Amino acid sequence: MGMSAGYHLAKRGMSVLLIDAFDPPHEEGSHHGEPRLIRHAYGGDATYVSMALRAHALWQELEQLTGTTLLVPSGVLNMGAPDVYPFEERLAYASLFKLPVELLSAADIAYRWPGIRLPEHYRGLYEPKAGYLFSERCVGACRALAVEHGAAILPYTKAESVQVSPDHVSIRTSNGVFHAEQVILSAGAWFKTLERFVELPIRPVRKAVAWFEADEALYDTSVFPGFTLADDEGGYYGFPSIGGSGVKIGRHDTGAVWRPGEALEPFGAYPEDEGDLRAALGKFLPQAAGRLLRGAVCKYEITPDEHFIIDRHPAYPNVLLAGGFSGHGFKFSIVVGEILADLIAGHKPRHDLTPFALSRFKKELIS
Ligand SMILES: Cc1cc2nc3c(=O)[nH]c(=O)nc-3n(C[C@H](O)[C@H](O)[C@H](O)COP(=O)(O)OP(=O)(O)OC[C@H]3O[C@@H](n4cnc5c(N)ncnc54)[C@H](O)[C@@H]3O)c2cc1C
Repeated sequence: MGMSAGYHLAKRGMSVLLIDAFDPPHEEGSHHGEPRLIRHAYGGDATYVSMALRAHALWQELEQLTGTTLLVPSGVLNMGAPDVYPFEERLAYASLFKLPVELLSAADIAYRWPGIRLPEHYRGLYEPKAGYLFSERCVGACRALAVEHGAAILPYTKAESVQVSPDHVSIRTSNGVFHAEQVILSAGAWFKTLERFVELPIRPVRKAVAWFEADEALYDTSVFPGFTLADDEGGYYGFPSIGGSGVKIGRHDTGAVWRPGEALEPFGAYPEDEGDLRAALGKFLPQAAGRLLRGAVCKYEITPDEHFIIDRHPAYPNVLLAGGFSGHGFKFSIVVGEILADLIAGHKPRHDLTPFALSRFKKELIS
């Protein structure tokens, strides 16, 4: 989010300093272990659909500007038991925004993608124009363009405290104190390290993902889409095998709490790291439940309602907060950066930010 905001701000000719505790893209946040799904037919709020469409266009623009492949329109198939994973709201938004989507039966799905085996009553919502993003490349592309447009970057520099007056913000870091008219804080799973300044209802959680050897004829990216999958035992998402990578799968709904500063336990520390993922593949994508090729751990930062926080600090309008992306924010990062740049410039954002307002949490915010 920060790198994207830096790109949009620098492109508008603003004076930008990007401060990061590590050297993005890196493995200490939420953006590594690419790819990431980009879906358009969201539920929850129409804002997500308008933001997803804008994000798609901006990622394509970034691809052209950098000459790098960032987005692969592989299609995304959402599947599940109708009572657990209803599609009605998504279908309504799809119709409102004229998104091409197909509602499919389990038999339709088995015919089209013989690598998928679903109980008879399951359904699928297929989005042919959705796909996946190479997230680390995306962060690198934003960084390169931000720097090209004149942004300065300070890697390995930890923001330690923030002091604010009406027209001035000072950030004390491990590399000195920096001053600005306005500041964006987007610390991902690390917001607790800024808790003396702002306390957000964000729960950082350890997540495990893994790549499994798969029958390439069934699951290669040329023939198989990205997917989400939910039944009464859990929610999963995954990707086709990309250049022989194997099928990548992750579980959305579980994960151990992580405290910033603690070492993140490696993949395999818990039997369910591999066990849950292998079980889901065995059940629904059986020829993709082969040898474990690779495992990785990453972090979600979850708000109580799993909606984002994009707002001004309630006490300091010259400080913007962008966090709590709850395991589904990456696709939007390019448009979140644009929104943040609009707010910094004093323009009305092109999207309704009501679902992301801090006021919805009331007493949970202490500043
Ligand atoms: C396993 C996994 C799968 C996911 N799948 C998807 C998906 O398919 N689709 C999707 O859209 N999203 C997905 N997401 C979510 C998405 O990746 C995140 O929502 C997104 O990366 C959050 O971006 P961020 O900028 O808030 O956090 P980060 O990318 O973590 O960036 C925060 C940055 O702040 C820096 N920082 C933190 N504290 C400080 C400090 N005190 N001083 C200086 N710098 C600091 C960090 O070093 C880091 O670089 C997934 C996430 C995970 C973990």
